[in-house]
Amino acid sequence: MPHTNWAGNYHYQAQHVHQPQSVTEVQELVRKSENLKAVGSRHSFNHIADTTADHVSLASLNKVVSLDPQQMTVTIEGGVNYGQLANYLHGQGFALHNMASLPHISVAGACATATHGSGEKSGNLATAVRALEIITASGNIVTFSRDETPDMFPGVVVNLGALGVVVKLTLAIEPAYQMRQVVYQNLPFAQMLEHFDKIQASAYSVSLFTDWQRESINQVWLKQRVADGQNNQPVSEFYGAVLAVQNLHPIEALSAINCTEQMGIVGAWHERLPHFKMNFTPSSGDELQSEYFVPRPQAQSALQAIQSIQDKIAPLLLISEIRTIAADDLWMSPCYQQDCVAIHFTWKPMTAEVMEVLPVIEQQLEPMMVRPHWGKLFTLSASYLQERYARLGDFRQLVTTHDPQHKFGNAFLEEYIYAG
Ligand SMILES: Cc1cc2nc3c(=O)[nH]c(=O)nc-3n(C[C@H](O)[C@H](O)[C@H](O)COP(=O)(O)OP(=O)(O)OC[C@H]3O[C@@H](n4cnc5c(N)ncnc54)[C@H](O)[C@@H]3O)c2cc1C
Repeated sequence: MPHTNWAGNYHYQAQHVHQPQSVTEVQELVRKSENLKAVGSRHSFNHIADTTADHVSLASLNKVVSLDPQQMTVTIEGGVNYGQLANYLHGQGFALHNMASLPHISVAGACATATHGSGEKSGNLATAVRALEIITASGNIVTFSRDETPDMFPGVVVNLGALGVVVKLTLAIEPAYQMRQVVYQNLPFAQMLEHFDKIQASAYSVSLFTDWQRESINQVWLKQRVADGQNNQPVSEFYGAVLAVQNLHPIEALSAINCTEQMGIVGAWHERLPHFKMNFTPSSGDELQSEYFVPRPQAQSALQAIQSIQDKIAPLLLISEIRTIAADDLWMSPCYQQDCVAIHFTWKPMTAEVMEVLPVIEQQLEPMMVRPHWGKLFTLSASYLQERYARLGDFRQLVTTHDPQHKFGNAFLEEYIYAG
């Protein structure tokens, strides 16, 4: 059976997939391997998780280890995904600060690439990490934490799979909360530009969906946190956009059956933050994805720059999503020390055509110091990328300390991180 990523657009070159049943087995495997790569839930679209040697999957190490209500943290094994974790936490009366669009993604893999949700005051998902246990090249377990190793910790969390196999993560939690999701249709593009800041501030998490085919944003998804017992009726108009009268899929032609509940109906945080329901489990997807981050003050210029090439984008596109993410201190995060707007593209599965349009998009965004999502498709050069990461030298040093022979190296890391 071919071993591919979730989208099926990338066939891994890995020779074999090991699925250890214990941390000790992972340690033994690391000790005896010359080269090895951790693979998560395979949701990345490029070769970041590939290797010509062997893969190690932590799919069997998928338990919640402990919950600490005093410290407000949860500790999980390295194979847990967000869906499992969210269900567990909610059952215990706790919550995460944010989630990605799909809940099926592994926590370790998501944090390794700075996966994010939306919300101008919410950092990416990796910002919730408080400690990590990593099996480094020696086979020993090294613990990094914000409290005990504060100097290195910001370099370790968004690790691009370079430091070793993450076998445990401790994440910050908060008391469970309620949310409601309201969708508006046809937000005029000019209104979106003029009121961008107010729109982003209007809810806990805001997503703007567009197919770049009209002079408007197709849909505005507002995810609002609500206090117990509060259930205000949404207003019928939002900066010229009209309240939707039924649940919608971001791609309007598709059924909303797999989308999380909208229409202002109040529900649990983990049933509103992702766009897609947890009990809908897509094993693969007929799509490609790219995503570009620019500093928040450049949001309007970036969106206008993309609009100016919409005729090149629209024929290849399923849907685009515009989100905001708060600044963080994680060295390899695209939001390192800068609030960002992220412009995401879900493409039709037309790899050759998509790879041709990406440089056109990147050229538009380069003046705005664009950074790509590490786990999605991009064509920006290694030298360009390396200039965008002020702490890259420190990250390389960290890797040299823990993996001097690049046991966890691969072509992606050689090209974008180690070369130069
Ligand atoms: C349908 C879909 C929706 C998505 N939605 C979003 C979204 O809303 N926001 C967003 O930002 N991104 C999104 N993504 C992208 C996705 O979150 C990232 O690509 C993420 O890295 C995937 O995690 P994974 O577990 O599948 O990792 P993989 O793709 O399996 O691996 C990614 C990296 O993580 C490393 N890794 C994985 N597990 C470990 C481990 N245990 N120890 C050490 N390193 C490890 C791998 O070596 C590799 O470097 C989406 C992707 C898909 C397919």
